Amino acid sequence: MLKHEVSKAELLRQKSILKSIYDANYGHDYRYHIESYGCQMNNHDSERIAGMLNEAGYRPADSKNDADIIIFNTCCVREHAELRVFGNVGALKALKDEKPFLIIGVCGCMMQQEQVAKKLSKRYPFVDLIFGTHELFRLPEMLESVLSGDHVFRISGSDADIAEDLPIMRNSTFSTNVNIMFGCNNFCTYCIVPYVRGRERSRSAENIVGEVKKLAAAGYLEITLLGQNVNSYNAPDSGIKFPGLLALVNDIDGVKRIRFMTSHPKDLSDELIYAMRDLDKVCHHIHLPVQSGSSRILREMNRRYTREDYLRLIDKLRANMPDIDITTDIIVGFPGETDADFEDTISLVDEVGYCAAYTFMYSQREGTIAAKIPDQIPPEIKKERLHALNAKVASKLSIASKNYINKIGEVLVEGCDQKPGGMMVYGKMNGFRTVFFPGDESLIGKMIHVKIIDTLNTSLVGQMVK
Ligand code: SF4
Repeated sequence: MLKHEVSKAELLRQKSILKSIYDANYGHDYRYHIESYGCQMNNHDSERIAGMLNEAGYRPADSKNDADIIIFNTCCVREHAELRVFGNVGALKALKDEKPFLIIGVCGCMMQQEQVAKKLSKRYPFVDLIFGTHELFRLPEMLESVLSGDHVFRISGSDADIAEDLPIMRNSTFSTNVNIMFGCNNFCTYCIVPYVRGRERSRSAENIVGEVKKLAAAGYLEITLLGQNVNSYNAPDSGIKFPGLLALVNDIDGVKRIRFMTSHPKDLSDELIYAMRDLDKVCHHIHLPVQSGSSRILREMNRRYTREDYLRLIDKLRANMPDIDITTDIIVGFPGETDADFEDTISLVDEVGYCAAYTFMYSQREGTIAAKIPDQIPPEIKKERLHALNAKVASKLSIASKNYINKIGEVLVEGCDQKPGGMMVYGKMNGFRTVFFPGDESLIGKMIHVKIIDTLNTSLVGQMVK
């Protein structure tokens, strides 16, 4: 057993508890509802919660009102998340009074902050189950305790939590996420993640490849390898690094597309760029959060690269993959950010020309270094800067979109939507561009060749190529 892995005996014990809950639930129509906040990691955890509940005999509910178990899987990355979660949990009091056997659980990053979890438990004593990020694999045993009438509160600091083969209910039948690592060692000064998700720990390459093989055999075409910083993946048994892992996944029959996120610029190696260029299934898209265009602010953020380093990486990526789509995260209004620093961010966006940028106003997270910096930026300035930044991103995107006209690419169809001109399907090209084109739901999950004929605000319009 590898360090950080949960033992097989413990996992078998948890599974046997699921079986006994299943037996007790047999013949009943019990339902669950999960509300997920935050990033893809959290959504992926929610798929595991759904998987375990499913094995315990519960089925998805149509809404909260029909549910016998409601779980909130929370996130604490943004400032107002707490207000929202507390509001939503508090709003369930009436439902709990009406249905005393309703089980209410709250988990995820926000609950890993012990003082917040305690506050929630005190304010809402009707919540039956509170657990932190490292306790997910113990859900069966916690559920068993709740079913026998106990309140459960479990927040541990242990990150020995890599649980292989947990039951999972995936949200899609053709595109899915696979965790390759957990936690983060970087301690960017604004970020709470290392405190709530723990230190970096990678899964073994063998287990990841085994999981992807099973997914490919089940018909999944697109695999997204997930981690807070996949570039520092380091297999604990074999020492395989991320480019090596990509090569192993690329060799798996049935997989058509490989994506990954997130990449820290300081760990983006030449080997990874060459792997992206040379491995035929790896999509030409990279999410490379820059956070700021000012080297001074980047230093304050503890990002450990400069504006110049970042721009050199962009040049290298484009020299090797001229068609690559680059997306990013940017924070405006970091403490002490001057007009000149912000102008550096605007000029960097101008220079790079992102395919999408997730832009945020800096929010103070208690317990982080940046929260203690006295020179906080007033909200109205943050708002102004966010507005100007979004306008710059959009104008660059709209110019870049024109270059796609008449190009032909393959789209993996994700869904369909009724539009004024008729039914349209949509999906992503090999990079990150979303294309809409006429079609119906029979195309969902298929890879279709499409010619681009027009542009929309952030997406493209195409038509099927016979
Ligand atoms: S790399 Fe920085 S921003 Fe990303 S999770 Fe780690 S500490 Fe947070």
